[in-house]
Amino acid sequence: MRSKSVCIVVAAGAILIPAVLLLSTFWASPLPKPEPYAGPLPMATPPREMGVFAVVTGVNHRVAAFGYRGGSLFERRDFSMAGTLVKHPKGDLLIDTGFGRHIDEQFRRLPFLFRAVTFYSLWRPVADQLTAAGYDPKSLHAILLTHSHWDHVSGLPDFPGTPVWVTAQEHEFIRRSGDMDFCKLFTGIRYEEYSFESGPYLGFPASHDVYGDGSIVVVPAFGHTPGSVIIFVTLPSGTRYAFVGDLAYQLEGITQREERAWLVRRKADTDAAGNRENLLRMIALKERLPELIIVPAHDMRGFAQMPALSPQAAR
Ligand SMILES: [Zn+2]
Ligand SMILES: [Zn+2]
Repeated sequence: MRSKSVCIVVAAGAILIPAVLLLSTFWASPLPKPEPYAGPLPMATPPREMGVFAVVTGVNHRVAAFGYRGGSLFERRDFSMAGTLVKHPKGDLLIDTGFGRHIDEQFRRLPFLFRAVTFYSLWRPVADQLTAAGYDPKSLHAILLTHSHWDHVSGLPDFPGTPVWVTAQEHEFIRRSGDMDFCKLFTGIRYEEYSFESGPYLGFPASHDVYGDGSIVVVPAFGHTPGSVIIFVTLPSGTRYAFVGDLAYQLEGITQREERAWLVRRKADTDAAGNRENLLRMIALKERLPELIIVPAHDMRGFAQMPALSPQAAR
């Protein structure tokens, strides 16, 4: 009788202990607060015609705990799936595409386990939103990717012939074709590599000034994927945005200094330590520039801080 009770206790422990340990990786655990960024603030001379416009293509139905440590397992959150149109007289850019026209059939190619826990709603593909606003998608100068995961590139086939700007590291990642990557399904995409020819920028070690006027500056933020970047956009008004891709899924990654939970990091990041280093750089920068608008690719609150695309805006 006694040995039976011992067996029950051991079996319960064998189930409960790993479950509690796993659950504990979702508990809040803020990163140590870094010193605020103390370097120079780079000059920018953005042309007055510039503008940024949110193009939210749909949502992924998640819970806060998926986004950051300390987030509730019971708080439902819709994660944005979006692109951003950046208008510039030297050439308009689209930062990421969000969902494209073929998301449903593309999604069926993702790993079974991921599909089993992922529920999305397509609102309207990015190319169709541009057209509906009276903007000819062929007017785009290029698509600039924060990185090449499925939910950022789904719309690429809807822009045939438009160059897709990537870092050499991300281009190599695309060639190796991971299971969360749609790019292997696409043919005829014109990838163009760029490099970081300029010096440090706002705490990041190197930079690429797209039009040489400081209005659109890309910095390496490798970690989530091998060639992930952050795109800083400065408008004539002085408003400064940081499009951080999946550096953090939700703003609490920055404001509460919370990484993704261990299980999510393990599945989502190729180099979680590298991602943490860049997250700390952004946190240090936000300490110095509280007015900086940070736009994680999957946080609706970031996209709410820019105008939505409209026929007036697209002109
Ligand atoms: Zn990603
Ligand atoms: Zn993503």
